[in-house]
Amino acid sequence: MSNAYFNIQEPKNEPYFSFAPETPQRESLKKRLKELKSQVIEIPAIINGKEVRTSDTLDVSMPHNHKHKLATLYLCGEKEVNMAIEANLAAQKKWAAMPWEERVAIFQKAADLVTGPWRDTMNASTMLGQSKTPHQAEIEAAGELADFLRFGAWYLAKIMADQPYSPDGIWNRVEYRPLEGFVFALSPFNFTAIAGNLPSAPAMCGNVCLWKPSTESVYSNYFFMKILKEAGLPDGVINFVPGRGANVGDPVFASPHFSGLHFTGSEPTFNTLWQTIADNIGNYKTYPRIVGETGGKDFIFAHNSADIDALVVATIRAAFEYQGQKCSAASRMYVPISIWPQFKDKLLGEVAKIKVGDVEDFTNFMGAVIGKKAFESITGYIDHAREASDAEILAGGEYDDSVGYFIQPTVILAKNPKYRTMEEEIFGPVLTIYVYKDEEFEEAMDLCDTTSPFALTGAIFAKDRYVLKKMSDRFRQSAGNFYINEKPTGAVVNQQPFGGSRKSGTNDKAGSVINMLRWLSARSIKEARVAPKDWRYPYME
Ligand code: NAD
Repeated sequence: MSNAYFNIQEPKNEPYFSFAPETPQRESLKKRLKELKSQVIEIPAIINGKEVRTSDTLDVSMPHNHKHKLATLYLCGEKEVNMAIEANLAAQKKWAAMPWEERVAIFQKAADLVTGPWRDTMNASTMLGQSKTPHQAEIEAAGELADFLRFGAWYLAKIMADQPYSPDGIWNRVEYRPLEGFVFALSPFNFTAIAGNLPSAPAMCGNVCLWKPSTESVYSNYFFMKILKEAGLPDGVINFVPGRGANVGDPVFASPHFSGLHFTGSEPTFNTLWQTIADNIGNYKTYPRIVGETGGKDFIFAHNSADIDALVVATIRAAFEYQGQKCSAASRMYVPISIWPQFKDKLLGEVAKIKVGDVEDFTNFMGAVIGKKAFESITGYIDHAREASDAEILAGGEYDDSVGYFIQPTVILAKNPKYRTMEEEIFGPVLTIYVYKDEEFEEAMDLCDTTSPFALTGAIFAKDRYVLKKMSDRFRQSAGNFYINEKPTGAVVNQQPFGGSRKSGTNDKAGSVINMLRWLSARSIKEARVAPKDWRYPYME
């Protein structure tokens, strides 16, 4: 039994290694990359702490060298989902009764394992399996993942301490219970940190979780599952159930014990999931919590007072880092005609210097896109632009999937502000720019706000402070993460809580108190010290 109040120290964001030449971290990472590449591992499901293999298998390979196999993945279906739900329910009582500080200690330890002995493995597996450069892997598979776990623990401690007012004679309390049933954590391919956080945040709050990772990032995600085990997570609290979308999703949503969805992924998938939950609503024992962070059509909007060099750097990083496969990646841009010639020359000059290729060659800025389906979809947009009368490809446009799924950074000029690559989420290294007349600044802002159904991230660039204020007000609902003279990517836990509104999701801000509260169900307790003995009120006299 606890007999004291325990403090969770306010964490600091994990610092990043540079991997510059001659640094020991560079050598150590390279060594781990070599080791992982030299073996083909097996990735079973982990249900109740046991490895489960099925007859349905899938080869996991490297996006930048698709003939190189990294792992054999065992895919789950209805039978394994039901086993996992049973294991979750069996683990629930003990886990929910565990004091919160004991629970979070497991995830704090997992964070230290991620940034310590497992750091190279997390980075190397994210580089190989998801085609990230060392920097892109480090900032999330090590840094952001550890931040999610450490700050999650700290947020939970703050929530627990938040208690109501008690007048004389009464003791009011609020108890923060986990949800009854299990939480379904459903993760996307593009961030190892998000994948790790989706089951971990609810589990810290005392929930049991069924985690289905994306088959496209399962390689790094499996190593995180091993870290949780090493950190002491009891069997059955988080079950790792890889599989194809609906093969896992449908039996999950059919369970009366389904009590919450923690999802990050695309908007069409989220719509399908929400509809399925709605169709089953009569079967559930509790109204499920639905948290979903979805797509974006993120913008950079420049005013003619913008610093052009800063704008060029922000544009390149936001549009092309991780091959444009960040939900926050800039994919449409508005530039005034007065600065366009100068901006265009500088931007195209820099884009021409970007190197695309194998992420093990540290001179590359970009790797491959995640897989064949993504490659075909992205190149379909490029081909459309090549043929369209209202669009022109200014840079890039080339692609080649003979070795890996490589697409050159592509810049499209849209003559029509509603051209399809200005509107639709492409999720690849494709940036579309619309050039507006300076005197039509207001109309251009209206266009930016209304062109896409999403409202995830957006950035404005200007030096004029009146203009910055005006733009900030005009775009109040256009982005959940809004940047001023800064690129719209790279949100940091506890600094810029992340999430968008409109069709970008429920905006429950991953890595914040707001998100943690969604996994708790409060019980209000009122205790009278001296109870009244007469049922009549004074006015009745
Ligand atoms: P996705 O929607 O294709 O898949 C997400 C997960 O859902 C995967 O695990 C997939 O297997 C699963 N899934 C798909 N259909 C399902 C079904 N019917 N039942 C159950 N599960 C199902 O997304 P993705 O391609 O992995 O990720 C990219 C998307 O995620 C982009 O749209 C991106 O903008 C978005 N994203 C958003 C954020 C954010 O914070 N807003 C962060 C990262 C990624």
